[in-house]
Amino acid sequence: MTDIYTKCLRKLTSEYQLRSLDYPRPDPSGKPGRASLYGDHYGFTPGTCKRCSRTFDITFEKRSQCDFHKEPSRKIRGVQHPHACCNGKYGSKGCYNAPSHVYKGNMYLDTEGFLTTKPLASPPADGNYGVYAMDTESIHTKKGLEICKVTVVDSKCNVVYDEYCLPTTDIIDYNTIWSGIREEHLKAVTKTTEEMRNDLLTLFNEDTILVGHGLGSDLMLLKIFHSKVIDTLILYPHHRGPPLRRSLKDIAQTELRMTIQNGVGHDSKEDAEVTMRLLLRKL
Ligand SMILES: [Zn+2]
Ligand SMILES: [Zn+2]
Repeated sequence: MTDIYTKCLRKLTSEYQLRSLDYPRPDPSGKPGRASLYGDHYGFTPGTCKRCSRTFDITFEKRSQCDFHKEPSRKIRGVQHPHACCNGKYGSKGCYNAPSHVYKGNMYLDTEGFLTTKPLASPPADGNYGVYAMDTESIHTKKGLEICKVTVVDSKCNVVYDEYCLPTTDIIDYNTIWSGIREEHLKAVTKTTEEMRNDLLTLFNEDTILVGHGLGSDLMLLKIFHSKVIDTLILYPHHRGPPLRRSLKDIAQTELRMTIQNGVGHDSKEDAEVTMRLLLRKL
């Protein structure tokens, strides 16, 4: 019987696919810690709000109200459908209100200070360098999006890491409707982003296989270079092809008959477990 690690090696997301999905890759100049991105940045326009797409002051000195829809208005076969959150028409006033616009430009523009997963000093006796699924949750700060929670599960879906960390700058919005993170979750937390990254660089080595759904954005915000990846965006592509992507919620529903992300915000534990189960079904 072939072991799980060997089976996973056959499913690795290729370098070309990693680039098309905006994974941070070591810069060709060879400058240590500098990343290059090659994807389409998923429709990102610099200087605009992630939620409502309006232009705003990204220094956050002047803040203005943000109204937005949680769900996009999709165009299917030429027909513009209403927003699924409230049935509001395309271009209508948002059904959510927040005191400030938010930014995610750092996800594409903050390309310095990356560290690479390291090789193990000696190979493991059973040849298994580890297979893990990872999911993160992030909040909006002055810097942009910052990761404040990471969950990692092993190939048996046991949680091996589940921690919060503090952002590096002022919080603008907890992003709770997506992140599930509220003020009280971070109250007693002392772990820094840097410490969180060191934990992960200890848990993973260069040959560990990491599974995730659009893991490039997690690795970008964590500032980690890692190449042995299986992305569920590639395992379960959109039927009309890229750049369209299926959501984890949709894949979980159709492939596993599981309803996820149904409450307020995502649960990184649930998302990581679902991602692992989606990989296991393809082996
Ligand atoms: Zn809405
Ligand atoms: Zn906005």
